[in-house]
Amino acid sequence: MVLSQQGSVAALAVDILRIPDEGLPLDVKVGAEELRLPQAAEVTFPILVRILGRLARVAEQVYFQGVISGTMSTPCSRCVESAAHDFEVETQVMFLPPSAADAHEDAEAVGLEDEPDIYVHDGTKLDLAPSVYDQIVLAFPVQPLCRPDCAGLCHICGGNLNEASCACRAESGDPRFALLKNLSFSEPS
Ligand SMILES: [Zn+2]
Ligand SMILES: [Zn+2]
Repeated sequence: MVLSQQGSVAALAVDILRIPDEGLPLDVKVGAEELRLPQAAEVTFPILVRILGRLARVAEQVYFQGVISGTMSTPCSRCVESAAHDFEVETQVMFLPPSAADAHEDAEAVGLEDEPDIYVHDGTKLDLAPSVYDQIVLAFPVQPLCRPDCAGLCHICGGNLNEASCACRAESGDPRFALLKNLSFSEPS
């Protein structure tokens, strides 16, 4: 059985007792608004976010290992045009029963090499959405670029240098000095 639903965050709410001994494959696609991702005019998710992986239960603990992938669109850090950023994040999450919140410290004490991120389930159900949310926020690009060689905006006229080269540089040499030329300083009275 593959848990596969589209466009519903309910697909990320898993009944723990339905996870068989051999594990439960998961392949779901959800919208960013259902994950309550911080969507603003400047950040959008043009396609559904895919969560692909497997759930495994060991006693009261549930593990999820998988890959979260999708596309986010943010303004280019140089030219402000929209820049699409594909992301694919590997994730390992451990869900503990509410009674075992201390196990977090146990896991740290044992010094697991790849320590999974730890969340808590309520004893019967777990919700993958918060862990998916956290991973996607971590995948936000620090300096998004519409393309690796984006030329950015002209410092003087504000024109997009990817679309047309302006004459500012040719006319005034170093644009930094051109800026200074136009500055007027008021005398202190
Ligand atoms: Zn750009
Ligand atoms: Zn210019």
